Amino acid sequence: MLPETGQQTLHTIDCHYTGPRRAAAYLVVENDHVAFIDNNTIHALPHLLKGLEDAGKTPDQVEYLIVTHAHLDHAGGTAALLAHCPNATVLAHERAARHIIDPSRLVAGAKQVYGEERYDELYGQVDPIEETRVRIVHDDESVDLGGRQLRILYTLGHAKHHFAVYDPGTNSVIAGDNFGNTYPDLQNGDRPFIFFCSAPTDFDAPEARKSVQRILDTGAETVHIAHYGTIPEPAAVTPDLLASIDRMEALQDDATSTDVSDDDLAEFCQRRVQEELYALYQDTGATLTDTDRRNFELDIWLNWNGIYWNATKARK
Ligand SMILES: [Zn+2]
Repeated sequence: MLPETGQQTLHTIDCHYTGPRRAAAYLVVENDHVAFIDNNTIHALPHLLKGLEDAGKTPDQVEYLIVTHAHLDHAGGTAALLAHCPNATVLAHERAARHIIDPSRLVAGAKQVYGEERYDELYGQVDPIEETRVRIVHDDESVDLGGRQLRILYTLGHAKHHFAVYDPGTNSVIAGDNFGNTYPDLQNGDRPFIFFCSAPTDFDAPEARKSVQRILDTGAETVHIAHYGTIPEPAAVTPDLLASIDRMEALQDDATSTDVSDDDLAEFCQRRVQEELYALYQDTGATLTDTDRRNFELDIWLNWNGIYWNATKARK
């Protein structure tokens, strides 16, 4: 079903995660039927509710909170948003549902990784959710939103509990973190800068390549990613996206086989990931500035930690 001319049925909501245009949630609107796709964190709640209001919709019209995967910058606000949406059901991957119902392991893991202070700043309170309000969705399942059939596509590579959503209403895919990151404030070259996020603990390069292909194979005209926004010509950025997966994979192999000691491996991964991402950025014709370095910080951190995690496991 195609939207009526001029009727906007997919809305991007800026969650203001660490700054403007760093993390998005999406709102799918089919007449009086509404679904959120991703919800960032409890800090984003005012933005999510404002986005709903701006679309002319009310919380009781929200049928689904669809969570692409259980990372807290996608799922951390689920309980808080659900408390405002009395008719909503949470739709989650079969491997994510139990962590969304009982987030204690996710929270403990994130606190261990980030430390209490940084954790609070990034994520804040994450409450459990009643099991009866969560439904597992399976690969290739269609979710009916007022007659619009949203299709669930299990897509691994970034996380084992990840899916993307194909929306026939806009012929687009809402890809979560499985079609790379392309931040508006890091677009300073002659072509788009895009890279794959190899965050801990599930980065899997072959699966990531398959996921990119699966998203392209839907024939979607546009892809909407969490970090950040709409990719108007997905096929055009695919070579660079795949190159970034190749680079992270090569680096992971180096980190696994290097004679650098275990004690020095973290520093090795950090330095190499930073070099690789800066090089990919400069390949687009951009000049690396101090502002760019600050904008890169969290992503370099996530990528090197993911590589370090995998290499450490492989070296055992
Ligand atoms: Zn993620």
